[in-house]
Amino acid sequence: MKVVSAENKANTAGTSPEGQEKPPAESVAPPQRPAGRAAEERKITGVSLSKGLAIGHAVLYEPCLTGMETVSGNTQAQLQRLRRATDSMHEAINRMLHHSATPTVTETRDILEAYQMFARDRGWLVRIEDAIARGLGAEAAVQHILEDTRTRMMQVSDGYIRERLQDMEDLSNRLLSHLVQLGENAALTPLPEDIILVARSLGPAALLDYDRDRLKGVVLEKGGYSNHVAIVARSLGIPVVGQCEDALSFARSGDPVIVDGDRGVAYLRPSQYDVDLYARSLEARAKRTRLYRRVQNQPCVTKDGVKVSVQMNAGLLSEVASMNNVGADGVGLFRTELSFMGWKKYPLVVTQAELYGKVMDHMCDKPVVFRTLDIGGDKPLPYFKAPHEENPALGWRAVRIGMDRPAVLRTQFRAFIRGAKGRNIKIMLPLVTEVAEYDRARQLLEMEKDRARRSNIPVPAKIELGVMLEVPSLLWQLDTLLETVDFISVGTNDLMQYLYVADRGSDIMRSRYDALSPAMLRVLKFIADQCRLAGVPVSVCGEMAGQPLEAMVLIVLGYEVLSVPAVSVEAVKMMIPTLDTSLLLPYLEQLMKSREHSLRERLLSFARDHQVNLVQNI
Ligand code: PEP
Ligand code: MG
Repeated sequence: MKVVSAENKANTAGTSPEGQEKPPAESVAPPQRPAGRAAEERKITGVSLSKGLAIGHAVLYEPCLTGMETVSGNTQAQLQRLRRATDSMHEAINRMLHHSATPTVTETRDILEAYQMFARDRGWLVRIEDAIARGLGAEAAVQHILEDTRTRMMQVSDGYIRERLQDMEDLSNRLLSHLVQLGENAALTPLPEDIILVARSLGPAALLDYDRDRLKGVVLEKGGYSNHVAIVARSLGIPVVGQCEDALSFARSGDPVIVDGDRGVAYLRPSQYDVDLYARSLEARAKRTRLYRRVQNQPCVTKDGVKVSVQMNAGLLSEVASMNNVGADGVGLFRTELSFMGWKKYPLVVTQAELYGKVMDHMCDKPVVFRTLDIGGDKPLPYFKAPHEENPALGWRAVRIGMDRPAVLRTQFRAFIRGAKGRNIKIMLPLVTEVAEYDRARQLLEMEKDRARRSNIPVPAKIELGVMLEVPSLLWQLDTLLETVDFISVGTNDLMQYLYVADRGSDIMRSRYDALSPAMLRVLKFIADQCRLAGVPVSVCGEMAGQPLEAMVLIVLGYEVLSVPAVSVEAVKMMIPTLDTSLLLPYLEQLMKSREHSLRERLLSFARDHQVNLVQNI
């Protein structure tokens, strides 16, 4: 995270975070760059918490503390003020949750309801009352308790507890604004038509303070991808950039702001050049989306008749709910661990079953593939203690945990069966390294089927158990695996990491090797060919499939099911009807014999020469 001032960034407007000149995620002709620069323009590089672009004007989300009483001689009067303020805050929160366009997606609703309960937490209010009884004014007491909690919670690494801290900061700010008699939330003060909310951190309910049509984007000084506010923002489709250090000290109320949620960059007081660039990009996106809407539900077929199913990856119910909106043909990878990361303790079977059942309800007739827990490595669970390891990516993670703690895998299978309520289901195992692991998992699944039968719980007629192919060792047992496995999905993110021994989380390594390189493409071709020969369905669910150029190559290699991030569905679906696989296949076969580091440039030239539509992801 860094802040670049206008003076020392010399011409970085319209520049990617990596410093390479490129327009914002859209192929539009850049406007002419003016010779001079706008004073005090600031580009702040943070992280993307919710994708999308927005242009608008800053509304600073800060508690208004004028007229604050620090010390008080009249405890009773302060206690009464506190009670009046809490009552009016509770009323306002209830009104906001029930009368605004509150999203109906379960997680979002759960988050907001938990927030509402937190606002009513007696423990918090009693602590504030105690501080008043010790002689503080009501506002000072609220702040004192917040500071005290912040100091204690910051030492805790537990993600859930830290999340509660953000809710508490938000509630404390709300209570303060009621105490200083703002009475209502900031949304009642005159606001611009295109609001970009700039805040230190936000509670999930804060977004509902604002008219959805006017709230265009959010810039946060703090925040992580799994923060509640980020989850709610994604379900509302509001772009958010987090971890923008000092954004509040640099921003002034009413400043023009650009939020680039795709790249995790915010521009305060952007130059006209940047505004024009982003405005064109927004316009081009809107135009493309209008075009896409007309065709998104039609089958996707290449020029030479290859039918491709473009599905999406998801991890939350809110994402699944957006499936029809983005035009995905199903969910090719449902990452179950994401919900586990949001739960505060290891979930009961009923809790899991309820979620899986709801996911299936949303699917109508479209397919969904549930992946069993892929925890460990870069995805620890706060309540599931794992040993410390030097190299967690090579360690005790994913299906390996299920092998050593069969209860983890069995209870998840049990939850899938219960959630399915007799409907057919597809389950996929991550990071399978040897066939013996698959066989063991199958045994555990059979045990759970028997158990369900004994308990008179309906068992689906068809439970398919597939494998994510992401560890190279399995390539040398692929023929054996294909004798019994129901399907294969290639996880190119991890396959690339383990094949090239290049940490996918390392900035230095991320771009060192290219998935469009001879070795990786030969491996992908080998897998596709073997699966075809064995008659086993195969798909790709790594990020690679979400790039139109890479998707073009995968289809030619024989992958007819791609599961991509939701934001990539449109771009991949727009590419497919412009591709003729019969023209690229012989060329690709030649290219794969090349000694070159990457085939990207050659493939790009092919796409250009043959008018394959390679628009950037939306
Ligand atoms: C992969 O490894 O390609 C994959 C899709 O799984 P994840 O990114 O969750 O590890
Ligand atoms: Mg993986």
